[in-house]
Amino acid sequence: MHKNKKLLIAANWKMTPPTVNEARRKALLFKGIAKRYLKAPKAKASLQVLVCPPYPFISELRTVFKNSPALVGAQDVSEHDGGSKTGEVASTMLQSLGVSHVVVGHSERRAVGDTDEMIAVKLGQVIRTKTQVILCVGESIRDEEGEYLNVVKAQLKASLARLSNADFSRVVIAYEPVWAIGRDDNMALSGHDLHQMVIYIRKMLRDLYNDSIATATKILYGGSVTPDNAEDIIWNGEVDGLLIGRASFEADSYEAICKAIALPTHSSMIMREATMRKMKTIKNNKSRPSVDKSKEKVLKGMKRVKKGTRKIRVARAKKTKQK
Ligand code: PEP
Repeated sequence: MHKNKKLLIAANWKMTPPTVNEARRKALLFKGIAKRYLKAPKAKASLQVLVCPPYPFISELRTVFKNSPALVGAQDVSEHDGGSKTGEVASTMLQSLGVSHVVVGHSERRAVGDTDEMIAVKLGQVIRTKTQVILCVGESIRDEEGEYLNVVKAQLKASLARLSNADFSRVVIAYEPVWAIGRDDNMALSGHDLHQMVIYIRKMLRDLYNDSIATATKILYGGSVTPDNAEDIIWNGEVDGLLIGRASFEADSYEAICKAIALPTHSSMIMREATMRKMKTIKNNKSRPSVDKSKEKVLKGMKRVKKGTRKIRVARAKKTKQK
């Protein structure tokens, strides 16, 4: 287990809560969590709380989070920078509200028409306004032949097409397998399987760009994260944080996730491994895709990236120590 890990724990409130009063009440609770977990005593990681509420609540959250480490993000942005575009919200508007991160390419936006090309333009808009972008990628199904790896590669390639190398300091990638979103926690990827995907994404970034982008770019995981699986996902998955949907609708479950990550007990990891083993023995369960066949493909040629990742981790730990 690596100490001094800095993790981004992003809450995607989606289209909740129904009123601004409710948003304010919830935001106050998240503000407390942000303070408690930025540097919790005996914690194995420092957690950065980020809340992405619906657009109308952004200002309210900014007010509540004033003088606190909690950040406010947005769930989407327009491709356009202004003008006669009814219902759209420009990145400059989000910037003027003090938004730190903008989610782009979420599967629920892709489902209503966002294409990789549109996502590439949105990415450019966010980066132009000096804001961090959380780019969501992830396959809809996980086939035995490993075609899902090409799906993720194509999404990354097309979405990042317009960026310069320097722009990457503002890019966070959220790997969110669509089949794992909105399910129960047994459908989340296991930490072990996630780690393979993280290595593969870093390999793709190295192939498409260079070693330092491959190792320095932050990768989050999203898809049915709960307090029961968070520890395994973070500590075995080797991700730099999470993008949490439903479990972030209530401050209690969000905080339980933070606690499981920052103060890991190992017991949840052991329990989860046992559940995963049990699930693998249920031969007829076709709904949870297997990764084993494509494993070899994923691991091939990744040793160099792994080495680079280790180097970055050591460098990051040193930096944190110096601070
Ligand atoms: C999401 O919508 O980004 C997400 C990860 O949702 P959930 O955690 O509910 O699966």
